[in-house]
Amino acid sequence: MNLPRISIVGGGIGGLSAALALQHHGYRVAMFEQARELREIGAGVIIAPNAMHALNFLGVGERVAKEAGPAEALVTRHFQTGAVLKIRAADYAERFGASYHQVHRVDLHAALASAVRCNDPDCVFVGHCFEALTQDSEQVVARFTNGKTFTSDVLIGCDGNASNVRACLFGDEAVNYTGQVAFRALVPMANVPDSIKDPPFAMFVGTNRYFLHYPLRHRTIMNVIAVGREPRWQGEGWRIPATVEEFANLYSDLYPPALQLIRAIFPGTLFKWGLRDREPLQQYCKGRVTMLGDAAHPMTPFLGQGACIAIEDAMVLGRAFAAARTFAQAFSMYENTRKERANGIQLASRRQADEIQGVTPRGANPGTDAMERGLYSYNPVTVPLTGAAEANSTVD
Ligand SMILES: Cc1cc2nc3c(=O)[nH]c(=O)nc-3n(C[C@H](O)[C@H](O)[C@H](O)COP(=O)(O)OP(=O)(O)OC[C@H]3O[C@@H](n4cnc5c(N)ncnc54)[C@H](O)[C@@H]3O)c2cc1C
Repeated sequence: MNLPRISIVGGGIGGLSAALALQHHGYRVAMFEQARELREIGAGVIIAPNAMHALNFLGVGERVAKEAGPAEALVTRHFQTGAVLKIRAADYAERFGASYHQVHRVDLHAALASAVRCNDPDCVFVGHCFEALTQDSEQVVARFTNGKTFTSDVLIGCDGNASNVRACLFGDEAVNYTGQVAFRALVPMANVPDSIKDPPFAMFVGTNRYFLHYPLRHRTIMNVIAVGREPRWQGEGWRIPATVEEFANLYSDLYPPALQLIRAIFPGTLFKWGLRDREPLQQYCKGRVTMLGDAAHPMTPFLGQGACIAIEDAMVLGRAFAAARTFAQAFSMYENTRKERANGIQLASRRQADEIQGVTPRGANPGTDAMERGLYSYNPVTVPLTGAAEANSTVD
């Protein structure tokens, strides 16, 4: 197809992956990020084989793997006694053809950002908070709160869970509070109790709560995440400062060495937020605009797949542009190839909350081998692109 001008709203993991995938196929992109600089929060993210296939193909997998260190086996433990309930071997590369890593988000984001800027040093525009768009049969015009506008042939919304692009396409939708509150922190390994260092990747499962820790950057930092039920919650955003005392009080019956890990969190480095969710969308594209990542299918963190699925989306979108004759065909191929998988994982992640937190019977042993195979054996670099009908891509 004639090379369209492509704008991307949002410079997170999804937006950067989309930029890189499109650049790989020869497209020029302009990316708009609301923050004053491209950056990520200090936290961990699991990058599973399904996403590593794409990162390897796009040339950043090696750097990400090297900075993260080797995959660790996941040990499921009893919430109160710490008894080992299950061990999941870390032989992902052998089973799925790509590796699995516990990654510092800053490292993944930096690897993607430097690859994108290396391809085109002038393609990132920070300090651009997307506000609204208009589109017709010729173009789409994005407007930003700094008063600037940008005109392109197509626009890709990668602006996360509270996507403004999505609101422009489909109007205001309900964002549901899931009744669950998460805590997160990073703890330098020197402060982690010895009895928690081995095994370093463990998930403590209990009724209505779970507590997870895994190491980052070659076991130099411990990432801590916990999620528990809390029917009453008012807060917005996911950087709400929390105190070690409130965290420890809510998890006071946790296996004592794990509770010690909570107490080792440095004041000012603990954050909490209420998990929010939306209903799956039946279409990701409207006219000259599409979305990917959390903007298209925000998901709870119980399968550790939100970022992986955003990377999968990006890889498939880039391939669809390369394979199609028109942008409308590309959008259609992208949506048809991705919707069932991404929406399915969005819903599976909801169900997984009940399993991990002992609300449904497999609580002590969450996750089946079949589910893991379904998630990790998908390869976005080779998955067939399906259907090129242009049904959803007519401009209103
Ligand atoms: C506790 C927790 C643990 C998780 N663990 C994992 C895991 O282990 N593995 C995994 O795969 N996933 C995990 N996830 C999910 C993952 O973090 C998200 O799915 C992923 O970050 C989505 O990427 P994104 O680029 O779509 O959105 P985001 O990361 O939200 O990025 C959106 C970007 O758009 C920008 N933006 C927003 N609005 C505007 C605007 N109006 N104008 C311009 N820019 C804008 C933002 O500043 C940001 O840079 C976890 C999530 C949570 C909450």
